[in-house]
Amino acid sequence: MSDKPKIGIYWCSSCGGCEEAIVDLNETLLDVVAAVDIVFWPVAMDFKYEDVENLEDGELLASFINGAIRLSEQEEIAKLLRRKSQLVFAFGSCAIMGGIPGLANMTNREEVFTRVYKEMESNDNPENTVPQTEILVDGKYNLKLPEFFNSVYPLDQIIPVDYYIPGCAPSPDTIKDAFTAILEGKLPEKGTVLSPNKSMCDTCPRKETKPDKVEIEKFTRPHQYDKLDDGKCFLEAGIICMGPATRGGCGERCINANMPCRGCYGPSNNVKDQGLRMLSVLASIIKSDKEEEIAEVLATLPDLIGPLYMYGLPSSILFHKRIE
Ligand code: SF4
Ligand code: SF4
Repeated sequence: MSDKPKIGIYWCSSCGGCEEAIVDLNETLLDVVAAVDIVFWPVAMDFKYEDVENLEDGELLASFINGAIRLSEQEEIAKLLRRKSQLVFAFGSCAIMGGIPGLANMTNREEVFTRVYKEMESNDNPENTVPQTEILVDGKYNLKLPEFFNSVYPLDQIIPVDYYIPGCAPSPDTIKDAFTAILEGKLPEKGTVLSPNKSMCDTCPRKETKPDKVEIEKFTRPHQYDKLDDGKCFLEAGIICMGPATRGGCGERCINANMPCRGCYGPSNNVKDQGLRMLSVLASIIKSDKEEEIAEVLATLPDLIGPLYMYGLPSSILFHKRIE
């Protein structure tokens, strides 16, 4: 029996991009595989839940869990992995903040089911059937399905999390640094987000062009702007760039592709609510102090939740839109 440390990798409400990010480690993945035994990774290898159940408590050195929690099955496996693991890493924006699936907290389970199972143009569902947690199939099989929760949750609202590996998906360097810290026993104190505690604007290649005082007369969306590649700070052009409210360390992948920062690395340590921090930045750059003019500028924004909480609605103070 191998005496290498054992690890588990699991996906919850996830697009699979975080799993691909692990594969994107390329040859570094071979070093990781040489140093640890991956004993659970459903997306890549045929392990069963009972393989995890049969482990001793704490037998896994670490579990890496990506995706938000939306189903009772995900909650159950997250709790199982917590029990079996010495360390749990929330891997990626969805696990840390709820991520893009978390935008569903603008609606509720009933509305999601109505849209997806009853109204979708491509559906063929004449009886308007929606998923049930228990149903008798052909009058004999009692089929059980996981419960679909009313809200999307970040992992640490379900189980205690030891470390956070940010990003949508985390960059290969962020993942590599995290694995190196684990294998060399150089992890920082628990609760740390494993990326520098700096704002994106500090590391942005366009930072020199950011004026001391940004003033805008209207908001512009990237597809409406034909000078995305001019190398200038996006905010000056009225394009929402989440850099001022976002942790750096991603390698500026979006900025280098001439797109504004979307905020996937989440807030830095001193920011409680990323969207509110950005709202405060936006409020301070509108070139007017007259209420009517400010309202006109704000009206050029089709939506505030999308850009400000693209990754973090479930972990924000708002958490879920109130639906009567
Ligand atoms: S963090 Fe991004 S890449 Fe990872 S599962 Fe969520 S949406 Fe996909
Ligand atoms: S606002 Fe965006 S483009 Fe401007 S300096 Fe910050 S990260 Fe760079």
